[in-house]
Amino acid sequence: MNLLKSLGWNSFFEENSKSFKQNGFSFARVITEHKERYIVALEKGELSAEVTGKLLYSSESNSHLPKVGDWVAVIIYEDEMKAIIHDVLPRKSVFGRKASGKKILEQVIAANIDLLFIVQSLDENYNHRRLERYLVMAYEGKMEPVVVLNKSDICPEVDLKLDEVKKNFPDVKSFTVSAEKGNGIDELKSILTEGMTSAFVGSSGVGKSSIINKLLGYERQKVNEIRLTDSRGKHTTTTRELIQLPSGGIVIDTPGMREFQLWTAASGIESVFSEIEKLGINCRFKDCTHIHEINCSVLAALETGELSKERYNSYLKLRKEAEWIRIKADPDEMRKREDKWKKIHKQVNVMKKFNKRNFGK
Ligand code: GDP
Ligand code: ZN
Repeated sequence: MNLLKSLGWNSFFEENSKSFKQNGFSFARVITEHKERYIVALEKGELSAEVTGKLLYSSESNSHLPKVGDWVAVIIYEDEMKAIIHDVLPRKSVFGRKASGKKILEQVIAANIDLLFIVQSLDENYNHRRLERYLVMAYEGKMEPVVVLNKSDICPEVDLKLDEVKKNFPDVKSFTVSAEKGNGIDELKSILTEGMTSAFVGSSGVGKSSIINKLLGYERQKVNEIRLTDSRGKHTTTTRELIQLPSGGIVIDTPGMREFQLWTAASGIESVFSEIEKLGINCRFKDCTHIHEINCSVLAALETGELSKERYNSYLKLRKEAEWIRIKADPDEMRKREDKWKKIHKQVNVMKKFNKRNFGK
């Protein structure tokens, strides 16, 4: 099991794989996904893989299919040098849009990431709001966020910026690095220990590729092509999306992550704005929105200055966004809204006609 461990296998997956093991399955980790074709890593090496028709068609949505980082239950066909994926093991964490609640749209981009490195660059790119949103996303997906402030070599006030982050998010690990000069890279390696899986998020240009290359010790783009063979023997080249570092940790980097649009969800907001949630316990109304109610502890704290206006405003903004995503993702809720608006429009039209007939306008 040692090789599996270096691929990220741990007690969580051990526990969740018992029934599969009894049924004779082996376990592998998805390292590349390309149009429902996969490369998986096993104890013995890497194999092309496909999912069973059953899994393909029984999946309620695409998010139930294997994604990079997933552990899958496979049957290995050594002669044909391939594996068939029968099921996806429960995910420890999810990178994507996974809001709580029932009929919520899910878009899983990768799975089983332990550390989410949130990269901002210490030049103009540093943005407190964006950082908050990434933190929400990390908590929502059950990943541990780590803030990385890159390009320390071109910032005159590195410590000031780091102190600000530490002050605002005391529970979050934060580092300053320079991918260019190599400063701080060892610190990242020291928390990304053997079998730990990480991913990097942040705007384009902040230095994610540069940091990954520094961790790897080589230029990833040049070495990472692998060949995928389909059932008809056709080859395509694709890039390895789960990479093991020489120092032991793992990095997942997929095109989907690069294109990922930030979003927000309710339970993550509670973690990032825990002080507001705490204040809310003492509000008079259980479902207090902290906007207009009387005896609202949040508004009271705002009044005394205990809660800053800035913090309160970004809380409201994120909450509003999360609400919108929730509605958009819930067909019933969406229909209710549309019906409501249709009714309103109808009433307005009736009124218009009525006015025209009676008042000539
Ligand atoms: P990505 O889009 O986040 O992957 O960013 P890249 O790694 O491609 O880097 C964007 C640009 O920033 C490149 O021109 C890098 O050379 C530069 N860059 C990356 N890290 C550093 C750094 O630590 N210091 C400086 N000065 N430039 C950097
Ligand atoms: Zn309140």
